[in-house]
Parts: sequence; C-alpha cells; structure tokens
Amino acid sequence: MDFLIRPGHHRPWVATNRELSRKELSDLVLGSDAVIADLDDCILPSPAKRLVYERLRDIKSYFDYDFILWSLESGLSLIKDGKSAESDCWKEYIDLFLYTRERKIEAKEKIERLLREGKLKEYPGASDFFNLVLKSSDSHLLTRNIPEITEIFREKYGFSYAFSQTWNKVALVVPSLFTNRQEKYLIIGDSKEDQRLVDKLKPCEGTIGSGKVTSIYVAESPNERHLNEHFTINIGRDYRGLVDILRNSHR
Ligand SMILES: [Mg+2]
Repeated sequence: MDFLIRPGHHRPWVATNRELSRKELSDLVLGSDAVIADLDDCILPSPAKRLVYERLRDIKSYFDYDFILWSLESGLSLIKDGKSAESDCWKEYIDLFLYTRERKIEAKEKIERLLREGKLKEYPGASDFFNLVLKSSDSHLLTRNIPEITEIFREKYGFSYAFSQTWNKVALVVPSLFTNRQEKYLIIGDSKEDQRLVDKLKPCEGTIGSGKVTSIYVAESPNERHLNEHFTINIGRDYRGLVDILRNSHR
C-alpha cells in the first residue's frame, strides 16, 4: 500500500493499493454514480456492539440465562474466528433478544440517546465525507443492523435506500447490478463480507456499462495486518484526511 497521507499520532491517514495522485483519487471517489456503504465500524463504532456492551454492563443481564449462554458462546467463537464471527453472533443476538417490535424500538431509543449525549460518536469527518459523495449519487446503506437503527443513519446522511439485517451482501447487490446498470460504483466497508462484495464486482468491470469499482476500506489501524489491499483506498477511523483530499484536489 502507498500512503498519500502518512499516519501520525492520532492523525488521519490515507493509503491506496496502487499509485494514485490526489486528483486521480478524488476523481474516482467523487465520480461515482452509485454508493454502497456499510454502517457498523464504518461510519461510527458499531451500534450493534454498543448494544451488547450496554447489556453486559447491566447487572440484570446476569440473571438472564439466555444472555449468559449467548455471551459465553459468542466469546468463544470471537476468540476462535475473530472479526469474521461477528456476523453470526449478531444474528443470534437479534434472534434471541431483539425479536419483538418493542425490543427493537427500545434498542433504537438507546442508540439515539447515546448519540444525543455524545457517548456514541460518528468517526471524525464522516458526515462531511458522505455529504460530498452522496450529493448526486444513487446511495445504499447496507448493514447487518436492525431496520430501526439503520433508519437513524439513512435519514441523517440522506442515503436513498437502506437494507438492514443483510447477511449476504453479494447475493443482495449483484443481481440488481444487471438491472440497474450503473457505471461507476463506490463501496465503503470494513469487513470480510464487504471485501467479498468488492472482489465479486471487480470481474464485472466491463460487463456492467463501462463498469468501474472504487472501494474504501475503513481500517482499525495503519498497521500492515489491518490494511486491506483488495480495496482501492484504505483510511483509518477518521475521514478528515480523505475529505481534505476531496475538497482540495480540483477536478
Ligand atoms: Mg461493518
């Protein structure tokens, strides 16, 4: 990976998987017709994980046998399979604890309260970034989160569509590509699932219109083991460096 903005102490950074000038990068990102973005750990620290964390802090949870069992099982699979186990753990969490409308509304209100109180914050520059890229494009928020929580962010950022509890993004997106025939896609993600989507779309280049896919990976750190070169661009959990490039590289 090449660094366009080098990482420093608590500073935003930007890396690319091929040699790109600031202007080329800016043209790729701003020139997209359709945006597909993930929510959890991409726009802000996962609201899904936050709900679990709040639950773990609540003493009442420890009298709930289902919750104890779920925590132990999830803990073990996260140790064994790391981040790739998150999707299954969350799916199970929804099935066990968020299965009624009231519980989902409760979860939504909890996240809204945390946002209002500043206890859950979007990554720096995230709203500026989405303001720039969602302007003229057909935009989709695709997430494993529940609809009640996804809707908060769909509305706030102005995505055209939101798809919640999406366990298989490839199966959802790929068939619609052939009917919609957008020219240029921008994908923003942070997981193996998002990477599968990027990998799947790459060979489609040339078959879908003039087809071009630009992708942004939101990495945990600029450490080599956290970077993902399947994505055109890597940034940390801070969009300000990228926003700076988009604003200051004239098209
Ligand atoms: Mg994610």
